[in-house]
Parts: sequence; C-alpha cells; structure tokens
Amino acid sequence: MTQAAPTIVLWDIDNTLLYTGGAGSLAMARAFRHLYGIDDAFRRIEFSGRTDTAIFSDAARAHGIAEERIPSEIARFLAVYLPHLEETLTEVTGGRLMPGIDRLLEKLHACDDVVQGLGTGNFRPGGAMKLRHFGIDRYFPNMAGGFGEDSEDRARVLACGIERLRDGDGRPRRVVVIGDTPHDVRAAHANGACALAVATGRHSVDELRAAGADDAAADLGDVERVLRAIRG
Ligand SMILES: [Mg+2]
Repeated sequence: MTQAAPTIVLWDIDNTLLYTGGAGSLAMARAFRHLYGIDDAFRRIEFSGRTDTAIFSDAARAHGIAEERIPSEIARFLAVYLPHLEETLTEVTGGRLMPGIDRLLEKLHACDDVVQGLGTGNFRPGGAMKLRHFGIDRYFPNMAGGFGEDSEDRARVLACGIERLRDGDGRPRRVVVIGDTPHDVRAAHANGACALAVATGRHSVDELRAAGADDAAADLGDVERVLRAIRG
C-alpha cells in the first residue's frame, strides 16, 4: 500500500512563530551603522513580510550604495548582522513565542505525514539564531526551507523551500504556508500552496482574508482548528 505524500508546512518566522521584541530590526540598524556609519538607516524601509535581502537592498540604495555592489555588500552585512543579533536578542524585552506555537510544533512534529520547514525572509543563520533563542530550533533540525538568501522575492523563497522539502519522488502533495502578512499569502498562492494567515503581526484577520488567505485566525491558540486547516 502506498502512503499518502506528506503535507509540507512552511513557517514564516517573525510575527508568526515568534516576536523578537524588535531585536531583528535593531540588529540590522546597528550592523548598517557599523559598516557604513549611518544611523537609523532603515527608518523609511518596510520590514513586514519582506525578505532581509530586499530590506537591506532598499536601505543600501537609499543611502547611495551602487547597485552592482549590493550583492557583495549583502555578504558583508550578514557577517556583521549576526553578532549584533546575538546581542540584541538578549538585550531587548518583550520577545516571545506566539500563542499555541509550542503545542502546534510539537503536534506536527509527531505527525509522520507532515514535514515542517521554514518559508521566511530571514537570512538562514539569523533565522536559526532566533529559533534557538526561543527554544524551538529542535523542530527544524536541518533548517530546511527557503530563506532571504534565496531571493529578494518571497514567492521565489517559498519555491526554493518547497523544492528542498520534497523527497524527490515527484508525488504531488499539499503545501501549507503559515504567515502573518499579505506577502506570505500572495507568495503561497504563487506556488499553488494553501495560505493560512495569522493576525499576530500588523495585519488583522479581515485584512488577511481580503488578501486572499484560505483561512485566517487571530492567533494559532486553537491548535485543533489549525491542524484541521493544515489537513484541508
Ligand atoms: Mg512575518
């Protein structure tokens, strides 16, 4: 008997799994100042639901870094950002896991027909640091998924994540993306995935529904409901 292909669940990190208390944006601002001597470089840059690559590139352009230098500057920026993030994660207050996340991760971890991974705009090592800080890294042992390094474009990030989580036998399978912004919803649909949205970030349930989310909840505290939605 052939088993059903496992469902792939791709998690966004910021404002979906956890809230860093602003540690991520603070570390980016400090890293930018460290490298280029510019304070508050991200003041006018939108962070929510975007990739770290896109956020950095916007700031670099805004502060006169030549377009052709941006790819190499991303690598330099990442090297400086990570130690700052290590510091800001312990420095800021108010960081937390979102409601229901620990129970949900545990339940999904125990399901042999679900494969969990990440679909996040975070740089991969930065994302790993955040998960470790909040004690949920064990659910993502190989940090499989799609990350900010893959592309500025979130849909492309998710495509890379889905590709890495397939086991290569070509069986069609359900992919569920869980995120907190319209960017997550659009990127999910661009990949033919189901978009479960959660209003633990800056967007309301109504806004997420209007963006086309297949399901949207105020938070993921009702674990049984979320599990049903994941199974479809
Ligand atoms: Mg997010």
